[in-house]
Amino acid sequence: MIARNLEKLKNSIAETARRCGRDENSIRLVAVSKRFPAEAVAEAHRAGHILFGENYIQEAEEKYSVVSPEVRFHFIGHLQTNKAKTAAEIFSMVETVDRKKLAVALNKHLTALGRKQDILIQVNIGGDSNKSGTEPAETRQLLEDIATLPMLRPRGLMTMPPFTDDPEDARPYFRELRLLAESLAAENLFSDNKNVELSMGMTNDYRIAIEEGATLVRIGTAIFGERPPKN
Ligand SMILES: *Cc1c(COP(=O)(O)O)cnc(C)c1O
Repeated sequence: MIARNLEKLKNSIAETARRCGRDENSIRLVAVSKRFPAEAVAEAHRAGHILFGENYIQEAEEKYSVVSPEVRFHFIGHLQTNKAKTAAEIFSMVETVDRKKLAVALNKHLTALGRKQDILIQVNIGGDSNKSGTEPAETRQLLEDIATLPMLRPRGLMTMPPFTDDPEDARPYFRELRLLAESLAAENLFSDNKNVELSMGMTNDYRIAIEEGATLVRIGTAIFGERPPKN
């Protein structure tokens, strides 16, 4: 089932990319495995998928310790500063850096490990007060702070627009994230200003996100099915 869902989804992503004149290889699928067991990750990996997204540190750590070392994880949940050490150890990218204190903590642990880490800035593009993320206007300052932290490679921006039933409603938010990224790239605030990552789009709205420039789509339900409830 997972293998078939992955195949269908990858075809749909490629088709969406072609339809809007984009190279399908410029879009990476982050398979969101939160609340699914390690076996689900292993099954998707056997089907040839490498990149996964996790929201909870302890859960991610458990999966990381049992799946193939070839598997890569992105952290996409809210990261508490006291979990920065584990995050520095196990994720190939932290997509949700949204404050200086967290960036400083990650940089400290990465320095001890002697490794650099790709990160994204999570931007609260909808201005939704109960969501995490920097305000769009504060993103530039955070990137300037991060420029002083040598172990962090700021690769781009991530967002989660306010939830609605109609995926078209997300389009203006995706567009706003892209325009913000373009203006920050023009000031050379990312580690690679010609290849800036935009992490946006989930099961319901990934096609719209691709049309608006997503380079990372984070998709769970379309691959793994309905998520088990939180315990
Ligand atoms: C759960 C989650 C997703 C995936 O959502 P689906 O609707 O299952 O595709 C993507 N991004 C984040 C940040 C999430 O928490």
